[in-house]
Amino acid sequence: MTEKCTLCKEKIEETFLGKIRGTVIKKKMVCSSCQKKFGADVEKQL
Ligand SMILES: [Zn+2]
Repeated sequence: MTEKCTLCKEKIEETFLGKIRGTVIKKKMVCSSCQKKFGADVEKQL
């Protein structure tokens, strides 16, 4: 299963443990780099 980041449309990769390198905010996937980029404002970008 491959998720895509809602903001940058990049594929969100999984770690070797099968955990995604991202998070779900308001039921939308956001990759970790977008989280860093937007920080606390990430919710406003969705
Ligand atoms: Zn992203």
